Amino acid sequence: MAERITLFADVLLPLHLPDTYTYRVPHEYNDSIEVGQRVAVQFGKKRLYSAVVRRVHDRPPTQPAKYILAILDLVPLVSERQLRFWEWMATYYMCYPGDVMAVAMPAALKLSSESSIALHPHFDASPNEMSADEIRIVEALDGGRTLSLDAVSDIVGYQKTMPLIQSMIERRIISMEEELKQRYTPREATFLTLHPDYQDEAGMKQIFDELEHSKRRQQLSAFMKFMQLSRFGKESVKKSDLTACPEVSPSSLSTLVKHGTLVEERRVVSRLTEHEATSKAADIILNAEQQAAYETLRNTTKQVSLLHGVTSSGKTEVYIKLIDDALQRGQQALLLLPEIALTAQIINRLRRYFGSQVGVYHSRFNPNERVEVWQRTSDPGPQGFKVLLGARSALFLPFHNLGLVVVDEEHDSSYKQADPAPRYHGRDSAIYLAHLWGDQTHVVLGSATPSIESYHNAQTGRYGLVSLKHRFGGLLMPEVLCADLKEASRRKEMRLNFSHFLIQNIEEALANKEQVILFQNRRGFSLHLECDACHWIPQCQHCDVSLVYHKSSNSLRCHYCGYAVPLPTECPACHSHSLKMKGVGTERIEEDLALLFPSARVARMDLDSTTQKNKYLDIISDFEERRIDILVGTQMVTKGLDFDHVSVVGILNADNLLSYPDFRAYERAFQLMTQVSGRAGRHGKRGKVIIQTYQPWHQAIRDAMDNNYESMFKGQMEDRRIFRYPPFYKLVSVTLRHREKEVLDMAAAQYAVNLRTRLGARVIGPEYPPVGRVRNLYIKRIIVRFERSEPVAQGKQIIRQCAETLLNDKAYGRLLVGFDVDPA
Ligand code: ADP
Ligand code: ZN
Ligand code: ZN
Repeated sequence: MAERITLFADVLLPLHLPDTYTYRVPHEYNDSIEVGQRVAVQFGKKRLYSAVVRRVHDRPPTQPAKYILAILDLVPLVSERQLRFWEWMATYYMCYPGDVMAVAMPAALKLSSESSIALHPHFDASPNEMSADEIRIVEALDGGRTLSLDAVSDIVGYQKTMPLIQSMIERRIISMEEELKQRYTPREATFLTLHPDYQDEAGMKQIFDELEHSKRRQQLSAFMKFMQLSRFGKESVKKSDLTACPEVSPSSLSTLVKHGTLVEERRVVSRLTEHEATSKAADIILNAEQQAAYETLRNTTKQVSLLHGVTSSGKTEVYIKLIDDALQRGQQALLLLPEIALTAQIINRLRRYFGSQVGVYHSRFNPNERVEVWQRTSDPGPQGFKVLLGARSALFLPFHNLGLVVVDEEHDSSYKQADPAPRYHGRDSAIYLAHLWGDQTHVVLGSATPSIESYHNAQTGRYGLVSLKHRFGGLLMPEVLCADLKEASRRKEMRLNFSHFLIQNIEEALANKEQVILFQNRRGFSLHLECDACHWIPQCQHCDVSLVYHKSSNSLRCHYCGYAVPLPTECPACHSHSLKMKGVGTERIEEDLALLFPSARVARMDLDSTTQKNKYLDIISDFEERRIDILVGTQMVTKGLDFDHVSVVGILNADNLLSYPDFRAYERAFQLMTQVSGRAGRHGKRGKVIIQTYQPWHQAIRDAMDNNYESMFKGQMEDRRIFRYPPFYKLVSVTLRHREKEVLDMAAAQYAVNLRTRLGARVIGPEYPPVGRVRNLYIKRIIVRFERSEPVAQGKQIIRQCAETLLNDKAYGRLLVGFDVDPA
């Protein structure tokens, strides 16, 4: 008998662990185990996880290895390339591959003992489709109960748990608890079908005759429409499609149902709706400037190119052409967007050309939907997705042949993940991902206001550079004007938060039946409450920030941790009753408008008004269809929206954009002002932008008014060089947190000393950040900056080693250390 070799597998667990773990492969799996497969393993005392195989080898580890319990995938779920992407991300952003795995894979593919399961909301499997073990689990879940996987392993035994759960999820017998927490409700619709008795020619004739004879005209016209949409009774018709027709009244449909002519039923409809393409990308006719840009991008030898195109220049049109080319070559294309929630318009535009080949992926999807998108991305067959649209997490999808990555609005800071690790930048990671696919996979970074970093890379020739300097269709750039608030106050021309000049322009727009967008970069009603007598300001109990007043709930809230209290009636410090609102938020502006323009229809769009999943869509479509005259909003109104009838855009307070304590403040202010301006006058006549400010001569405001990107860029480069910021330097920010201030202070001081002995003057701090305590943890920050030419990877190693020394020191128990590379 041939001797069987003993194999070992190093596996990745979706946990914050520095390394892979080695397990022994049972002999019967010797031929089937592969890198990228998921396997069930035990980790810790009695915890089960699905881990991903990273390497298979025959070198026994020094410690005795546990056995792999089961292989969960026939074919690898994760490719070698994806694994290398995860590893790069972990190294570059100074976290662990397990942290990356935890965000990279959809929850439903990432089981662990802690996961809980419940019956699937559409559960209808019959007992003979299930094994005895499965029936026992289903019985235990009956009555809406949930079970942890630990509890399941008590029922069916440890070894069987993972494979069984996996299979039951795939067959929709059970679902993961996380999905229920998101209050998953199946989407249903009412359908009408011709009653089976009438489904032949004689039957149909009988109905027509009866309706005609009895002169039931309304029902006749409703029935005729039904026959048309149902292809003469062969198909069911959605009731809402019928009632949308002017010739169909809801009551006539009810009567037809009552008489038994039509049968009504509720059906579950898929959320991943199918779409038919109605146009061909080949039919898009680019103008000369677009055509030149497109050809340059298509033929470039540079892997990364920057498409610098003013707002409304038709960047999206160019993307569509490039995506179409990738598809023609049999490849997939990925279009990244900063915030997928705000991009219904672009999704529809892509679907018009690519129909059901378009897949959308983002965190608002529930776990099952995400698994579906994941699977169709890896499917090279006709059912597979060819164009993927998503926020940064779409980078983790299992592409089978990625040919193009477009990063739209590449300057947007929401591409950077803040918390938790991996704190990665979607744009920079996209470039690395393309690199992994090879030279032929191009990246296009698109923006009207490129980030300083990307523009610098284009200037120095690392990236290709293509510009679109004109708006499509001869549209003029908006006229940008300034309202000097100091002057207006002096002349007593301010009414509430509005200058006379802005009011006049809004009035004019309303009189012409045009629309207005107002931008205010703070949400909520007012920044904070303040006692007029003693200047007491209500603070969060858990964080060092003042609370923000929210009118809709009449409460004070913390924007960092969610802590909320009802509005106090008197000052707890001095018992005075004169509590005053200070600062201005979107809700306050909304109120001002009600007073200033009582007949205008006003809506507000910010994080608070759009927490419900579809609320923002309603606001957008109301605005599009002109049921709203004035839209007030935060950053949300600046992004990717394209409206036809906006003639005036107002920026209510440009000064607070400039006052952020952040080296990117001017760059951001310029970007924001330019992006908001881009919403003005998109179709039809030239729009107007009015910037209200106390500093009309500020360089960033002048540059925004002149739409002078070059001037902003030159000024910023000068500052960045002098003050040693990117793109000349690379920053790593280290955050230390601890419940006790004294311990934190000591730890941070010690860490800084250790770092300085090895990195010298590159180390800045420690300092308290502007908010020095969040969720009861005190925070200190150290910044390390490296010159670009320095071996940064080595520097990161040192930063890490020093942190480990600190974390191993008993004096600093429960200290938390986090790294942020290229902080936003
Ligand atoms: P950007 O993405 O640069 O802001 P868009 O791609 O949204 O610009 O284009 C602005 C508007 O002009 C859109 O309504 C778009 O459909 C239209 N447009 C741009 N280029 C073309 C073209 N070549 N043919 C037809 N319409 C175009
Ligand atoms: Zn007081
Ligand atoms: Zn708080």
